[in-house]
Amino acid sequence: MSIVSLDSPVSVLYGIGPEAERRLARLEIFSVYDLISYFPVRYNDWSDVRKISEAQEGREISFQATIATAPVRKGRKRTSPIGFAMTDGASRIEISFFNAPYVAGKFERGDKCFVHGAVTFYNGRLQMVNPYIEKLDSMTETALVRPVYRLTAGITSNQLAKWIRTALGLVGNKIPNVIPSETVRREDLMSSEAAYRCVHFPTSLEEAQAARRRLAYEELILLGIGMKRYMHGDEAEERAPVVIPKIISKDINDRWKIVLSNLGFKLTDDQKSALADIRKDLMGSKPMNRLVQGDVGSGKTAVAILAMAMTALMGKQAVLLAPTSVLAEQHYKSAQDLLKDSGINVVLLIGSTGAALKREIKEKLKENEASVIIGTHALLSDDVRFADLALVIADEQHRFGVKQREKLLISRADGHLGPEDINSVHNLVMTATPIPRTLAMVIYGDMDTSVIRQKPAGRKEIKTHFLLADHQDELARLVRGSLEIGNQVYIVCPRIDDNDDDRLWVDDYYGNEYYDSEDQASVELTSVVEMKRRADEWGVSGKYGTGVLYGSMPEKEKLQVMDEFVKGEKGLLISTTVVEVGVNNPNATLMIVMDADRFGLSTLHQLRGRIGRGSKQSYCILVSANRSEKALTRMKLMCECSDGFELAGKDLEMRGPGDFFGTKQHGIPTLRAANLFTDADIARTACDDVNRLGEAGGAEAEAINEAIGLLFKLRFGNRMGTL
Ligand code: ADP
Ligand code: MG
Repeated sequence: MSIVSLDSPVSVLYGIGPEAERRLARLEIFSVYDLISYFPVRYNDWSDVRKISEAQEGREISFQATIATAPVRKGRKRTSPIGFAMTDGASRIEISFFNAPYVAGKFERGDKCFVHGAVTFYNGRLQMVNPYIEKLDSMTETALVRPVYRLTAGITSNQLAKWIRTALGLVGNKIPNVIPSETVRREDLMSSEAAYRCVHFPTSLEEAQAARRRLAYEELILLGIGMKRYMHGDEAEERAPVVIPKIISKDINDRWKIVLSNLGFKLTDDQKSALADIRKDLMGSKPMNRLVQGDVGSGKTAVAILAMAMTALMGKQAVLLAPTSVLAEQHYKSAQDLLKDSGINVVLLIGSTGAALKREIKEKLKENEASVIIGTHALLSDDVRFADLALVIADEQHRFGVKQREKLLISRADGHLGPEDINSVHNLVMTATPIPRTLAMVIYGDMDTSVIRQKPAGRKEIKTHFLLADHQDELARLVRGSLEIGNQVYIVCPRIDDNDDDRLWVDDYYGNEYYDSEDQASVELTSVVEMKRRADEWGVSGKYGTGVLYGSMPEKEKLQVMDEFVKGEKGLLISTTVVEVGVNNPNATLMIVMDADRFGLSTLHQLRGRIGRGSKQSYCILVSANRSEKALTRMKLMCECSDGFELAGKDLEMRGPGDFFGTKQHGIPTLRAANLFTDADIARTACDDVNRLGEAGGAEAEAINEAIGLLFKLRFGNRMGTL
């Protein structure tokens, strides 16, 4: 009797021991459901069976033929290949196998086989080396369209396929259905079980396509309905405090003017209109649910702090959540500058805040003695209570996992974040990730958006150049040149040291591409450690100071390194993509990205946004050894285009379905079957159908409702980006 269920760990399956389990974990496959929903990235279609005479040098071909000579070792050494001839009646071909002793025992003269492989000429004769070969009588009908999976070292596509087959046999009929029967009929969709089977083991590409269509519906329903429910709870009866009254006293107006004069610059029109939107929301009791989208450097922080100032001036409290403590500390400093002499009390609460100070801050929050609170998720996890919380702003929300968003909601519900008698607060999300409308709609539902398109006046456009990796001298010259004239430099590398696994580390921009472990091993990615060594060799480390920064460093050290860099005590900062988000050092004018081909366009654009923040001309140098057409096209695009929104669109087009922006690091779930760029209509109709069914009620509605909850947890529950 099988007691295997969808959420059982993969280790319950026959053939998966501790080692395999560890390897699967690297692919984020933990449960049996994870395994069966690990869809192929593409298929090898070998079903076009030809005659041997049609073979062309260098091309792959499938054919059926008979083994004409007994397999023999062609040489004396143990490493000599085993070979035999095959014929399809009209033509002959020589087949050789290196390192494949099993071939000798498995095949004999007279066997009728299916063969697929690349053809070469050797001594004027057609030949194939290590092709795929299988006896016709043992072949299944699914053998010709072969799934190709994204892999990690020590796991092959065949192994994965075998495990998936086992798993489907045990739980294939236990996958709950989330698609209304009306939709299934109208769109002529496969059954759930058939779809999971056919996506892995199709008999034709058309069948795989049809399976994927059903799975796309499923995925988009989970995302569109499940995500909204998960993130926003039941919005129906929520009310938030009215923050801004119709009439404002002169005293408050005067203090507001002080804040504005502290700015030291004029707001752009877009900043002004975003603020006006926010102000209007804060005048009502319907909870604000607004997304402020603005390209890097567009000045979102000022908008956030001004929104908090509005709230604080009315005697209420506002929280700004930053994804990292480095960023929180930076916002804290900006807020202190901006709010000085206005009578608004600002506090910072992050993980490394000392215990005594923490206690004191919490007391202030409870007594409403502090009204602008800036922090990281330490704010969410601690037992923090507010006297009169009205506004919560999340900066760079894409950096938060959904896990953390969930925490925020739970905190609200049980009164940790916010007093018990308030069910809701105004919510503002600031992001530089230009989330396309379809995705925003699916994930955030009817969230309002304010867009900041303009850059503050007086900025010079960043100049971006591409440099082939072997020009190290040029690189040294550029770095030295910048440091000599007092400018600062970022160098970003795709991994920390020579040991860490770059397969999981870098943004897998290939999206649909698959590379096997051998391919990967041959790619030497520059590490932070290696780069530091080079900087030492260039003689810049001692002279100008070099800081090293990566995510897993202790919090305090990170803050210190960042601090030294921002203050100019260190000229050069070598880091991983941790600097991608928000960090502001206007004196940094050179950004070098090593192995730039390994990052998504959006990530590169975010990185580039770290420079060009002052009035000096800034340069971004993308370094890569990858000369493939795809890589060069992407680099060219980066050099020519400086608009984040445009790049994001291009990014999506180039990646195709699947990974969205290299979303793993961004907390937006990675899609496996659907493509939000092309499947927008599916998303809309599928979600509409489910909502309509839900409104009508009944047994099917209930079943689907439950299934969505269940499958959403299985599919997205543990899968959100972490910091
Ligand atoms: P982001 O939108 O990436 O969060 P920031 O808020 O960090 O951008 O702003 C980038 C820089 O631009 C900061 O140094 C900030 O002080 C400055 N800035 C913001 N708004 C303006 C403005 N209207 N005029 C001039 N400088 C501005
Ligand atoms: Mg910012």
